[in-house]
Amino acid sequence: MIRLENVSKFYYTKGVIAVGFSKVNLNFDVGEFVAITGESGSGKSTLLNVISGLDTYEEGEMYINGEETSHYTEKDFEDYRRKYIGNIFQNFNLVNSYTVYQNIALVMQLNGSKNKDIKKRVNELIDKVGLAEYKNTKASKLSGGQKQRVAIARALAKDTPIIIADEPTGNLDSESAAGIIELLASIAKEKLVIVVTHNYDQVEPYVTRKIKMHDGKVLEDSKVNVREDAPADSTVQAEDYKNIRFFTKLRLGIRNAFNIPVKFLLLTFVFIFVSLALIVETGVFQSEKWENSSSGFNWVFSNNSTSRIIIKNIDENKIAQPFTQDDFDKISKVPNVDRVVSQDLLVDSQVGFETENGDNYLYGNPVELKEYEGTTLDYGRMPENENEILIITTKNSYYIDTSKNGIEKLMGNEYKMSYSSQLKDAKFKIVGVKIVDASEDPMLVPREILISSTDKFFERIMLDTNMAYSKTLVTLGNAKDQDENYPMYKIMLSEKVEPGTAIVSTEYNSNFKSQRVKGETLSIRVKNTYYEDSIDLTVAGTYNKTTFNNYYSLKEWESYSDCNGFIFVNPKDYNSLFEHDSYQVSVFVSDELLVSETAKALEDLGYDTLVMKDTLKKDDSLAILELFSQMVTVGLAIVLLVVSYFVIRIILKSRNVYYSTIRMLGANTGVCRDLLIVDLLVDANLAFAITTLAIYLLNKFIPSFYLVETVVSFVTLPQFIVIYLIVVLISLIISIRYANRLFKKSTMTTIKEEV
Ligand code: ADP
Ligand code: MG
Repeated sequence: MIRLENVSKFYYTKGVIAVGFSKVNLNFDVGEFVAITGESGSGKSTLLNVISGLDTYEEGEMYINGEETSHYTEKDFEDYRRKYIGNIFQNFNLVNSYTVYQNIALVMQLNGSKNKDIKKRVNELIDKVGLAEYKNTKASKLSGGQKQRVAIARALAKDTPIIIADEPTGNLDSESAAGIIELLASIAKEKLVIVVTHNYDQVEPYVTRKIKMHDGKVLEDSKVNVREDAPADSTVQAEDYKNIRFFTKLRLGIRNAFNIPVKFLLLTFVFIFVSLALIVETGVFQSEKWENSSSGFNWVFSNNSTSRIIIKNIDENKIAQPFTQDDFDKISKVPNVDRVVSQDLLVDSQVGFETENGDNYLYGNPVELKEYEGTTLDYGRMPENENEILIITTKNSYYIDTSKNGIEKLMGNEYKMSYSSQLKDAKFKIVGVKIVDASEDPMLVPREILISSTDKFFERIMLDTNMAYSKTLVTLGNAKDQDENYPMYKIMLSEKVEPGTAIVSTEYNSNFKSQRVKGETLSIRVKNTYYEDSIDLTVAGTYNKTTFNNYYSLKEWESYSDCNGFIFVNPKDYNSLFEHDSYQVSVFVSDELLVSETAKALEDLGYDTLVMKDTLKKDDSLAILELFSQMVTVGLAIVLLVVSYFVIRIILKSRNVYYSTIRMLGANTGVCRDLLIVDLLVDANLAFAITTLAIYLLNKFIPSFYLVETVVSFVTLPQFIVIYLIVVLISLIISIRYANRLFKKSTMTTIKEEV
């Protein structure tokens, strides 16, 4: 059945050639029980390995059933081993983490046997080798003799015509050894059994042939105890094998994932680390990207908060309509809407305060006091009248020294407003300071400040603002402002003027035929982008140089001639011109990341929106920095992946023995790869699930933790899925590469390296 003609085996190591055996001529047949003896180093193991197809030969020809094997590929030898050879190794090569049953079943599973057949045969074999009570014991817990029995049972589980055993009794006491030899002898009746032994006396009563080797040569080859019932036919047709079943692979893979706790924990840990690092990195990356995209400036709006959306109520004819209470109710109900500021113009007006000597000044966007009702301040108290100011700022403001000292100094100063016709004489005190994170206050632009005071204060600056945005035309008799950009008449406010009336200079008398302006009608018309309004007042009297100061006190740099011509009206009358509905509204969102979604929701309600974030321009140097930081982040991710790849490979090195073993039992590259894929995917999935769960729980219980916050707010579901796929991909790549590397070396090399 097997014939060797002048077969030689050489080993090449570091340029030195060692002879395994040379010019061996042997012929083996079914029914033989062959003992090979010889001193150590005489080539016995090498010969067995060549016969087993575990190692190649360099010279001569080995025939299997008359077929030449010198042209055999690795794949052909693999086939040959699976069909013909059952190996029993001196060092057993059992899978230590498998039970007796699992070890024996493994070889049948790899050959595609059905579970039912496996169960029957494995149980039979376990009985046959006398290990029934150890069936579910792990191989690592067995004695040497017991392990050898498992190795024999395993060699028999696959019904191959040739059983090859290298010193099967080497580690056994004489009693166990005798049992094993008897077992092999009984098998040898219908198979070819070749045994290497250093104790020929022990096997002598059972063997049919004795081969003695010396220095790589066959010294003696003699028949002993010739059996009369030896089969006549020397060629044996080996049974064909099938490939391992899909579900068996799945089962083995899952078992392998868990059955070595240390390896399992290490791999899961590495995968958790990779998943977590990728998720956190994505979060940080996205948040940086967001921050970069929201930094910048525009010249149109003073409040550039990235939480801001400006909305208008445009009808079918493209005409802006005023916002009604109904509108405000609808807008407030939109998810993520935090603040609705009906007086949008105020959001962009800057109010400025400075001390008398001009050394200290503050500029900020006004915000209504009601937004801060019930909150605690860091310093001072809430304003109680229109001369008291609350400052809302971030710790690293451009304008304010937010140290205790700085704040105390700030609060000790007395301020006047820098430009206000309404409040130009008032003296202001800062009575309260609130220091927040920019993210806590949607209206606050980082490093800027917000300025708040009572409603009265607001009405006043609202008027200033409205006046600034409106054009005023005054008509008195036939005289009329001709150019709205250069008004002829300057309106001043005075409480001393009765409502419904106006006081003008005596000079206006001459405009009338009657030489009398008193009793004439003065009309004031205001006009802005959204509306026009007008009021008619009766001139109730006149002033001259001496009575002028009833209505106005001249500044030291002013003279009467500068001011002669002012028209004094009651503030209520004048203000009524501006008490109009709002036509433009600012919405501030609580989660600025969702600002586009919120804008979309507002558009769906029929409003026109302008998202502040989209109007911001960026500096070129910032853009380069941004690109650089993104490259660094991507680079870090790549380094992380490469490092984890190698760490996983190092952990897998401990699996070399397992994979070499199953390879000897008939598993090819594909099978090893698939088993490893299942193994790693179990770990990877588990790790990813643990990571996701951990993030979920952390977010639930300590949501303020910076990284968790970043991850939860910045990593989107598709990104989570991509990261999951990357982790899966790592598992696949490692499995495929590992299996390929394993199979590049011959089986023997791998085994020898590891054992
Ligand atoms: P035995 O099993 O009879 O003790 P071996 O078959 O193991 O002998 O070894 C036969 C010869 O081949 C010895 O000289 C040994 O040094 C050499 N040899 C065995 N394996 C290798 C190897 N992997 N590399 C180099 N030389 C080897
Ligand atoms: Mg040997």
